[in-house]
Amino acid sequence: MLETLYFLGIAERRTASDIGPKFDGNQAVELPMIAPPPSLAGLRAQAAGCRACPLWKDATQIVFGEGPAHAQIMLMGEQPGDREDLAGKPFVGPAGQMLDRALKEAGIDRKKVYVTNAVKHFKFVPRGKIRLHQKPNTPEIRACRQWYERELATINPALVVAMGSTAAQSVFGKITPINKSRGHLIDMKDGRKALVTVHPSYLLRLPDQDSRAREYERFVDDLKIAATQLQRDKAA
Ligand code: SF4
Repeated sequence: MLETLYFLGIAERRTASDIGPKFDGNQAVELPMIAPPPSLAGLRAQAAGCRACPLWKDATQIVFGEGPAHAQIMLMGEQPGDREDLAGKPFVGPAGQMLDRALKEAGIDRKKVYVTNAVKHFKFVPRGKIRLHQKPNTPEIRACRQWYERELATINPALVVAMGSTAAQSVFGKITPINKSRGHLIDMKDGRKALVTVHPSYLLRLPDQDSRAREYERFVDDLKIAATQLQRDKAA
């Protein structure tokens, strides 16, 4: 029952105030139907008021997806980082610069793809003047999946690229190992294709230059699969 409620998409809303202060992701509340948004801008405005998990409380603002309203490729990361939280835009920090470079090498124009995150508010713990990134947990990923579903319905991309384990969990609705799933297109039930790869921030965390260079090449190779698919779709 709980799983059904989580994955009903636009028919369901859960808010922290409805659920109560002890939200741990295991409660679900059925609320009235809400109308589908008319546009991506409408969706973004709707999401700004989301209170479906506690992450909105400490974040500066929501960081919604960005890109053409009918992009053929949707790229999904984990959650906004410190820079993204302040700017209100996805992938503008160091990981975003890494992504831009890799997209260019793969032959994909970032301006033509829609870029978003599985979780739309920044999760962190304060350490002095620094805000340390915290990985979103399963209840938070599930609570935020409704926005991915709405982005998907509005943009209708042919291919979704899940970058990292949080994105893969959101796209496939279950924990999905990256190494077993990456490097090939996966057919989705809704007719779309999905591609799994690492998150660019993973490349930034690698300790030595050799492994960073090697993994960066693998990341570009994965993105080239997306570029080839895009070309095929255009030719069809
Ligand atoms: S992280 Fe997602 S589910 Fe949680 S409040 Fe923000 S938009 Fe809503």
